[in-house]
Order: sequence, then structure tokens, then C-alpha cells
Amino acid sequence: MNRTLVLVGGGHAHLFAVRVLLQEKTDFHIILISPSRYQYYSGMFSGFAEGLYGEKDIRIDLKDLCERANVTFIQDQVVSFNPSVKNAQCGRGQSVSFDAISFDIGSESEISSSFQDYVIPIRPNYLFTVHIENIKRSPMPVVVGAGAAGVELALSMLAWRKKHAEQKNVTLITSSELLRSFGFLTSKKIQRIASLKSLHVIEGEKVTDITSSHVYTDKQNSLEHTGVLWLTGAKSFDLFEEADMTTDDSGFLLVNDYLQSPDCPFVFGAGDCVSIKTNRSLPKNGVYAVRQAPVLWGNIKKYLNERGMEVFKPQNKYVAILSTGNKEALFTYGRFSVHSRLAWKLKHLIDGKFIRKFK
Ligand SMILES: Cc1cc2nc3c(=O)[nH]c(=O)nc-3n(C[C@H](O)[C@H](O)[C@H](O)COP(=O)(O)OP(=O)(O)OC[C@H]3O[C@@H](n4cnc5c(N)ncnc54)[C@H](O)[C@@H]3O)c2cc1C
Repeated sequence: MNRTLVLVGGGHAHLFAVRVLLQEKTDFHIILISPSRYQYYSGMFSGFAEGLYGEKDIRIDLKDLCERANVTFIQDQVVSFNPSVKNAQCGRGQSVSFDAISFDIGSESEISSSFQDYVIPIRPNYLFTVHIENIKRSPMPVVVGAGAAGVELALSMLAWRKKHAEQKNVTLITSSELLRSFGFLTSKKIQRIASLKSLHVIEGEKVTDITSSHVYTDKQNSLEHTGVLWLTGAKSFDLFEEADMTTDDSGFLLVNDYLQSPDCPFVFGAGDCVSIKTNRSLPKNGVYAVRQAPVLWGNIKKYLNERGMEVFKPQNKYVAILSTGNKEALFTYGRFSVHSRLAWKLKHLIDGKFIRKFK
């Protein structure tokens, strides 16, 4: 009987595997399980927020892709899995047995339970378009978190509001500085850009409470709002701890350099949901998920065919291009950054090329 491989989540690395299967024949029965028929591509979220792309431009039809690749698509969520009997349980009751399983399920937003009812999370990503459409039209939108995603979305919403003669009053709050992980110079550069574009920025203040009408910070600041988009740190799903898998301190699935669980060799993972044992501080972003994709897919096949595997070697620096609105972008590579229209054109080309691969 054919062996079964279950791919949990339609994230970047699993998209790559399914795309390879459009050309490659395999003896395995492959199942992809993801809660939505569509996988939304976060690289184009800022362009959608600004109104430069429509909903269909930024999403991949997983069901269609799977059908073409001879992969069984189950539109559901894996709610638990039991490595000792090699079985995964879906939210609607379906139980799926496997010989090997791979996770590329991303992460959740870390939101305090005391105010989670008053904020809009960015995840799950298939709800992004609905959420962003609502908040960008809201009279007093607030974005919390000034990493790449927060900065991009605050500036993109602002650009959309300027074009649509809405009030130019988007506020971005961060407990540190804008784009702190990109280094001092880039952080200063984005501060100047934000100021030139009239983004209201509150730096160095931690949000302590949110009610239906106000955001409160640890510096006794209170700010009226009509919608709060929450874009701070990534949190792991409980799935791995509940399955008694080895995880890092934050509950992300621990994997070795082969992107394989050290205690269950038939469990693999990539993207935001894993923590690499030898490189735990690797940033959680789409770039690394994409880089891991060919190694993950190659190693799963080698594992199932009982052949030697390849290690994942992350590069130290990577290119990140952040849209700043009005078809301008900040190109960054390590600590280097430059702001221009050309950077946006490059981003548009790269993102368009990425998404067309799956259409
Ligand atoms: C606004 C914004 C802009 C960004 N821009 C960039 C950028 O330009 N470049 C970049 O590198 N990174 C960017 N990021 C970060 C990037 O989105 C994530 O790091 C990346 O998506 C992680 O990819 P992934 O493959 O791990 O999982 P994801 O892309 O998050 O996909 C995971 C999939 O698994 C599904 N899933 C979740 N739980 C389950 C379950 N239990 N069972 C089955 N399926 C499940 C999800 O619904 C989803 O379809 C951005 C993030 C945001 C929010």
C-alpha cells in the first residue's frame, strides 16, 4: 500500500512541495490540510491595504493547486495529533493516519486575554482582507506593533486614506522604536519617512489595556480608537505541546537542521511554526519559510525513501522590502536600507513573480 504524507497548513514551504508535484511523480499519497481554500500571501498585504491589488491578486487557490498536483486537499484545521499512533484529528471530526507528517502552520498573535475582544488580529491570514477593509475605513484606526508588518500596514492604510479623502489619522504604537530589529540607522530612516508621511507614531510606550473606545499605555497615555490592529510578536499554537512533542520555550516545534523533529523522525516542519535547535533566534518571516521549502521537501522524500538527508543552512542576511505607501518602499539588506520608488517596483516584481508560480 502507498505510504501517506500529511502536509498540515498551506504555508510557504508546503506550497513549494505541492508546486513541485505538478511536475514530479510520486508513489506517496499526499494530503494537504488547511482551514481555508485560499492561502493569502503576506508579501502583498500592504498593496491590498493600499488598494493597489484586489483580493484575487494576493491569494493562491489551494484546492485548485492540489487537484492539479494530484494531492488530496482537506479544507479543515488539524486540532490535535498523536505521534505514537501516527494519527491527526481535524476540527470537523475527520481522522487522518500518516506515515510522515509535516507542519507549516505559521503562528498566532500574542494578545492578552483581558483585551482580545477589542483588537483585530492579523491571523488567521485568510481573514486578513475582511479585517483590513474594515479597519482602514474606520474613523480612528490604531496599529500596535512596529515590526515590518505594523509599519507597512500603518503606512499603507494611511496612503489609502489620503487617496480616498479620509482623515489622515492612523496611529502606530510601539513599546520600542520603529523597525528596531533592522538596526539603528534603518530605524531612524523609517521614523523620518513616517513623519514626512504624517503617520502618528507613539514610540517607547507599551499598551497595557484596551477597551471598546480607548487604548491605554504604560506612560499614562490614553488614546481614542475605533479599531485596533494587533501586530506584535508571534505565538505558537498549542498543538505541539499538547502532542508532547519537544518544543522550544515558547511552544514552537523544535526541529534539527534537517527540519525534522529530533524525537519523532517522521515529524517535519518549516516556517514560523518551528524553532531550529541550532539557530533558535532565526527571524520568523516568509523569506526563511521559502528558503526552507526545498530542503524540507527533499528531506521528507529522502526520509520516506530511506536515503540520507540535507541540512538547512540559513543565510545571515536577507533582502526585505517594506512598502511605505504611494508606491514607495524601503529596501533593506542586513543593516543597509534605502528608500525609493524603485524599491517598490522591485517588490512588486518579486511578489508578482512569487504568486504567479501558483496560479
Ligand atoms: C502584514 C504582513 C506583511 C508581511 N510581509 C512579509 C514580507 O514582505 N516578507 C516576509 O518574509 N515576511 C512577511 N511577513 C511575515 C510572514 O507573513 C510570515 O512569517 C509567513 O507567512 C510565515 O509563513 P509560514 O509558511 O510559516 O506560514 P503561513 O504563511 O502563516 O501559513 C500557515 C498556513 O497554515 C494554516 N494553518 C494554521 N493552523 C493550522 C492547523 N492547525 N491545521 C491546518 N492548517 C493550519 C494557516 O491558515 C495558513 O494557511 C508579513 C507578515 C504580515 C502580517
